[in-house]
Amino acid sequence: MHIQVDSHTHTVASGHAYSTLAENINVAAARGIKLLAHTDHGPAMPGAPHVWFFMNMKVLPRIMHGVGLLRGVEANIINFHGELDIDEDARCQMDIVLFGFHEPIVTPGSKRQHTEAVIRAMESGKVDVFAHGGNPRFPLNAEEVAQAAVDNNVLIEINNSSFTTSRVGSRNNCAALAEAVGNKGGYLTFGSDAHLADKVGNFDECLALIRSVEFPAERILSCNGTAYLDFLKLRKPHLDMSGFDSLFG
Ligand SMILES: [Zn+2]
Ligand SMILES: [Zn+2]
Repeated sequence: MHIQVDSHTHTVASGHAYSTLAENINVAAARGIKLLAHTDHGPAMPGAPHVWFFMNMKVLPRIMHGVGLLRGVEANIINFHGELDIDEDARCQMDIVLFGFHEPIVTPGSKRQHTEAVIRAMESGKVDVFAHGGNPRFPLNAEEVAQAAVDNNVLIEINNSSFTTSRVGSRNNCAALAEAVGNKGGYLTFGSDAHLADKVGNFDECLALIRSVEFPAERILSCNGTAYLDFLKLRKPHLDMSGFDSLFG
């Protein structure tokens, strides 16, 4: 199974990551990644970039070294109403908006509160991908979240770093979420969540998890760059993504 899309990566701009965008692109090109989402943390995260960092992404080419660059953000859920920390003007310029819980921003609450926050964010229409939903610090109802993802055309991320360096104890929750998405006919995306260029495009742990729950490959959107772009174009008709067209000619 070849993965064409890495939907979650960080650069030095996040304040606690160690590679530049150019370094990430070089690794992505070497590993056959066709679409690379650069998704530095939203402004509420300590050390994260100012909103102008996101507003200025129009200066970035659509394609570098044969890799399509998806302008993105990993927004923070800031309360249990599912509100986010990203400015509306900036959000509307993003090709892809990830969202998730981070402990520096939200103190964990109840399973019901986490579930409601995620569903509200999905229903807002402002988010495209729910990141690292298996985090045991923020338990949620996998069935309800998977159903909301299907109902609102949102992708559920399987995050490679959740099985290596981050969020210890995520595996069973991620498996439950993937199974629920599979049963309800939803779609997954793979994110390396690389904080170092060497991790870009590495999905060994995601693939092992997918095999363990027998998730259908045709509903892993990261396997199909063309379908991934179609998904984003459908969600963001106000953005011009024609600059990517030559990628899959
Ligand atoms: Zn995160
Ligand atoms: Zn991240």
